[in-house]
Amino acid sequence: MNKLFEEASYVIDQIESRGYKAYFVGGCVRDYCLGRPIKDIDIASSAKPEEIQAIFPKTIPVGIEHGTVIVRHNHVSYEVTTFRKEGEYEDYRRPSKVWFVTDLEEDLSRRDFTFNAMAMDKDFQVIDPFEGREDLRNMQIRTVGEPDHRLSEDPLRIMRAFRFMSAYDMHIEERTTLALKKNAPLLKRISTERITVEFKKLLEGERAGKALQLMKVCCVFLYLPYPIEEISEGSMLSFDWSSLETEEQRWAAVTVLSKVDDERDFLKKWKLPNKVIQSVLAIIFSYKKDQWTKIDLYNMGLTTALSGLKLRCLIKNDPYEEQAKELTRLAEEINIHSRDDIPLNGEDIVRIKQKTPGVWLGQLFNDLEKEIVEGKLSLSKREIRDWVRRWGKE
Ligand code: ATP
Ligand code: MG
Repeated sequence: MNKLFEEASYVIDQIESRGYKAYFVGGCVRDYCLGRPIKDIDIASSAKPEEIQAIFPKTIPVGIEHGTVIVRHNHVSYEVTTFRKEGEYEDYRRPSKVWFVTDLEEDLSRRDFTFNAMAMDKDFQVIDPFEGREDLRNMQIRTVGEPDHRLSEDPLRIMRAFRFMSAYDMHIEERTTLALKKNAPLLKRISTERITVEFKKLLEGERAGKALQLMKVCCVFLYLPYPIEEISEGSMLSFDWSSLETEEQRWAAVTVLSKVDDERDFLKKWKLPNKVIQSVLAIIFSYKKDQWTKIDLYNMGLTTALSGLKLRCLIKNDPYEEQAKELTRLAEEINIHSRDDIPLNGEDIVRIKQKTPGVWLGQLFNDLEKEIVEGKLSLSKREIRDWVRRWGKE
């Protein structure tokens, strides 16, 4: 049986031996029922956070006020959350109040979709009050309870619906779809960070194109951190998102397909880390490039150039492999990887030129680098010295 569940059973056993109830809940039960790999295991229990802390030697109080404690066992973390029920969502961010309840079903009823509202005991008996397994069989996404109420209560669930659609190639049940469309404007009230987490997961899914298409139909694009007015529809659908390998490639694809005016601003509005933004912009630059010279390829790096090429081929429906080989060949012809590979350093050059260091040195290095990269100058010290002597005199 699944090793992860076996390990986690110890945690459940410990809680139950003190007279409390404890179950596997959420994503791990869903993925288990789908026969998919389990990521992490969450546990719901009738024990209060301080009671969980008293049972286990290693715990981390990550969200006591929400009833969550992390239990560490054999170097694995388990989120153990007390059965709870939520008050009204006043500010669309977090429920205004959390009550602890003794009943598992009450806890499950606050969850978003039927397949996320199942629990499982340590003997793998599934507790499924909202027919989540039936929905999984039909590959259907359906809210627990009335869709309009549940989506307006926490509009982040709108993003989550599309994310599950993409991840599992599911369809969204009709009433839920209607409610998605109706409540889409409420996404404006959800924090960018939470939307970005779900959107990132959507893009990682195997059917991102299909989910994005429905998002468009439901007018959700208008209420994203950067409202997207126009998206290149044909390519979005035919586009093979699953062949993109990195987060940066996926963001580059969204940016390019969204036809935004200011790409940097677009990426900033999603509050992506600066490092990610830089890489995405480099991929977009490469994507737009028709012809590569050695110096451009050297400056950009082969990995980024290939990412751009891949995107270009996917969007234009061009074969990638042959062009990628050509680009790789061109890169292999360049005999340095960085300035450090040049056998003369700044001091050597200052000595040859007998000038005090200044702006000229940087310019000389740029020119020198370009000569070498383009194969006009070898790496022989003698040749480079001669070239340095001539520099600035012609
Ligand atoms: P993943 O496998 O990607 O982690 P997950 O279903 O575990 O998917 P989480 O965001 O980790 O997703 O949430 C854990 C569980 O908490 C969900 O399965 C669901 O039962 C509940 N949940 C999460 N977010 C919401 C929400 N916005 N509204 C209601 N229930 C939620
Ligand atoms: Mg999870």
